[in-house]
Amino acid sequence: MESEAINSLLIRKYNQPVPRYTSYPTVPYWKEGIDKEQWKDIFAAKFSEQNHVNGISLYIHLPFCESLCTYCGCNKKITTNHKVEEEYLLAIEKEWLLYRKLMKQTPIIRELHLGGGTPTFFSPVNLQRLLKIILKYSIIHPKHEFSIEGHPNNTTIGHLKMLYDAGFRRISYGVQDNDPEVQRIINRIQPFENVKQATENARAVGFTSVNFDLIYGLPLQTVESIERTINQVIQLKPDRIAFYSYAHVPWTSKAQRLFDESHLPAAEEKILLYLKGKELLMKNGYMDIGMDHFALPTDDLYKAREEGKLHRNFMGYTTQNTGLLLGLGVSSISDAGNAFAQNEKTLHDYYASVNAGNLPVTKGFILSEEDVAFRKYILNISCKGETEFEEKHLPLLEKYTFPKLNDLAKDKLVNWSKQGMMLTAQGHYFIRNICSAFDLFLLRAEPLKQVFSKAI
Ligand code: SF4
Repeated sequence: MESEAINSLLIRKYNQPVPRYTSYPTVPYWKEGIDKEQWKDIFAAKFSEQNHVNGISLYIHLPFCESLCTYCGCNKKITTNHKVEEEYLLAIEKEWLLYRKLMKQTPIIRELHLGGGTPTFFSPVNLQRLLKIILKYSIIHPKHEFSIEGHPNNTTIGHLKMLYDAGFRRISYGVQDNDPEVQRIINRIQPFENVKQATENARAVGFTSVNFDLIYGLPLQTVESIERTINQVIQLKPDRIAFYSYAHVPWTSKAQRLFDESHLPAAEEKILLYLKGKELLMKNGYMDIGMDHFALPTDDLYKAREEGKLHRNFMGYTTQNTGLLLGLGVSSISDAGNAFAQNEKTLHDYYASVNAGNLPVTKGFILSEEDVAFRKYILNISCKGETEFEEKHLPLLEKYTFPKLNDLAKDKLVNWSKQGMMLTAQGHYFIRNICSAFDLFLLRAEPLKQVFSKAI
């Protein structure tokens, strides 16, 4: 591995807004007004193909939060009125039943993730009802993986015990930053004691993987504050850490307009925050999985990576690839491998659709053979760090991708030939940029001059 000094020069060069590639094509290229009948046919065919082989994956979006974290870019609804839980559960049940009609066999649930919003906004009793709705007439796969996003401030022992009994073994807590001043400015007051207690409670109940989300690039963060946060959280030995870059997009996230932009770390400082965080994690035994994810060598995510079984979808990295991910709830995304579909983004439209007996999908993309192939290249790079090329794609690769690989190879980020490519050790820092060399939508729309043309 080259020195950190060279590394930081490269990080400056490639510090560009590049997609996370939780999908390909990425969401901006999807089409509004998906053909619902076509989506139903695609879903039903993929279900029949995959269910008995691998089971299916489910993502359920639970959008309510009691208070607004001002950095947040998620689809959420802020309310302290817990009566909303009832209406939402009824809508999820209706949506699930609409999909059940398309399933010709009993669904085998291999992967289930409750995300948000704040899933632990729901009472344990209501979460249990939700799970009953989904699992009552389903088969739970013997190698299932059930997980939830928990808020350290409101995840109770009651939640944890109920979830454990239902088969959940992994919980992700949004930690973000421990510094009181940073917490104040992002409106997320969460004493470290709460994170510690929530972590200890999850382990005491039997959860085997406790994950933390951290963010760098938030207002008022400094290298010292990041160092303190990471040194504190690693005392709790989270099994996985997602160390995300804060995306400042005030034109789409209104609450971010509350930030005084002078409090945001400049681009150079943000890089230093990342490098300090990564250095501390690596020194403390965490392995770099790629795309801002770190895991202890004992965690399944690391093992899956070592065994070449890692997969990536809207939930980020996962150890399962069932071939069909069904997203339920407002704004959720489904992935059938050759098609994506996204649900209505407002509660009003979501409720209106399911109450009228219609699938609430509103936007999506049907992939061509070419899209499926280039999606595979991007998945291979982000999950395995290497990919082989198919001869039939050489004309496209030569036109769009190989010139980019040439530039990346000059910076010692990849080794490549016409047969395939492999990341170098340093290339792991830049997986997103390297994936973008296979993003034909991006490359056809606009050459990535800013990413690839600058000399170091
Ligand atoms: S960060 Fe999480 S808890 Fe905060 S507003 Fe967004 S979804 Fe809700």
